[in-house]
This record gives sequence, structure tokens and C-alpha cells, in this order.
Amino acid sequence: METFENAFLRVLREGLAWLGWVLPEPALEAMARYAAMVREWNERMNLTAIVEPEAMAARHFVDSMTALRAFQEPGWPPDPMGWPARRLADVGTGAGFPGLVLKLAWPALQLTLIEATAKKARFLEAVTRSLGLQGVVIVARRAEEVGQDPAHREQYHGAIARAVADLPVLLEYLLPLVQVGGIAVAMKGAEIEEELAAAQGAMGRLGGRLRDRWDLAWPPHLSPRTLLIFEKIAPTPTHYPRRPGIPEKRPLR
Ligand code: SAM
Repeated sequence: METFENAFLRVLREGLAWLGWVLPEPALEAMARYAAMVREWNERMNLTAIVEPEAMAARHFVDSMTALRAFQEPGWPPDPMGWPARRLADVGTGAGFPGLVLKLAWPALQLTLIEATAKKARFLEAVTRSLGLQGVVIVARRAEEVGQDPAHREQYHGAIARAVADLPVLLEYLLPLVQVGGIAVAMKGAEIEEELAAAQGAMGRLGGRLRDRWDLAWPPHLSPRTLLIFEKIAPTPTHYPRRPGIPEKRPLR
């Protein structure tokens, strides 16, 4: 029978080939160790419903890797292992998706993982330590507080989130963290027209505009999904983000 690691690596390699990324063997092995830790800790705490190696590779790792291209700047080498440092915040990262996967592919990345649940933050500390990662900061606080903290506010080249909140709410978490000229990336499912229409007001108020939209699917492994890339075109007014819970309770319109 195929081991967890072999099955995971087989699908991971297929997915990376589909995306057009070539990563060195140690990066793939680090991803496999990380996946094994997710599975192990998942027996004690609720990190993910996805535990089969093929699904873990496709729906957590390859899906996270779909966002990498959003950060590639003109003139950078084709290989993300050689990309220069940039600051990225992953909001509501949970077990580290997509942030930690991007870090393994792009080692110079300065990554801040923002996760409100302390138990999940402890898992992230354990993975970071076990993989010996440098340049990863774990912030066990709510995005609304972090976005008002001068140590984080408008300090990032990029902010990203997957499966955290509806777009008008998500933009209030992401855009305050991003410096003018930087990008906020929302990883979404296929049905986003309504959310996108509802987010027009939030974009304008928070200083963002939609720059790009990528529709992706990798059948049968990944159902259709959409990446939305917003550009920060003006500073976010100081009263955003509002207090914890308010963006969700009263989404910007
Ligand atoms: N991004 C991960 C993924 O795609 O696998 C986790 C998704 S999980 C459904 C949503 C996570 O966002 C949870 O771990 C939750 O604790 C965190 N979260 C939700 N709202 C948050 C907020 N306002 N600030 C920080 N974390 C938040």
C-alpha cells in the first residue's frame, strides 16, 4: 500500500506541474513533513476535515500554491526559491494555509500568520520550529486589532486570506495591513459575483480596487475557484478596521 507521504508527494508533484512551478526536493519534503504534522495534530484538535493524503496535497497545498503567482513581480526569476524578500500577512491562517505553503516555496518571504484561535497558533509555532523556518511571525490576535497596531498597519507588501469571511468583511481585515501600492488577495470559490458586487463600497472606503481576477480549476482534484487581487491605491482611513466583531456584524456597503 502506498504510504501517506508517497501519496501526498505524488499529487503535490502533479499539482505543481499543473501550475508550472518546479520546487527542489527539500521543499517538497518539508511540505510532506508539514502535512504529516497537520494529520497528527488533527487527532487532538480540529484543524481540518481533509486528512486523506491526496486531498490534503490538492486542497491545502496545491490550492495554496495557486496564489504564489499573484506576488511575482516583473523581472523576478522564474523560480520562487530565488525571489527577494517581501512582507506578507496571512489573515485567519488556521493550520497555516496558504501562508506556510507559500513560505516553503519562497524562503525569503517575511511571513506574518494572523490567527485568532490560540490553540491553532500553538500548532503554527510547532510547525515553524520543527521545520526550522526563519522569518515567520505568529500573531494570535484578531485581524481587527492587528490592523490598528502600528507595528502591522500598512506594513505589508501583501495580505492574503482563504476561507475566512465574505468579501466586504475580508477587505476590512486585509486592506488596512497593506501599504499603498501593495496587494490584497482573496482566495474564493467559484460563485463570487454577488460577493464581488456587495464589496464595491468596502473597496472604495478602504482604499482598494480590483486589479485582477483569475478563475482556476484542476479537475478532479480542485473544484473551480477564483483568486481576486486587489491593489491598495490610497491609505485606509484610520477608523478601519472597526472593533473586533463589527466588520462581520455590520459589513461595509
Ligand atoms: N485559512 C485557513 C484555510 O484556508 O485552511 C483557515 C480557514 S478557517 C475556515 C478560518 C480561520 O480564520 C479560523 O482559524 C479562524 O479562527 C480564523 N479567523 C476568523 N476570523 C478571524 C479574525 N477576525 N482574525 C483572525 N483570525 C480569524
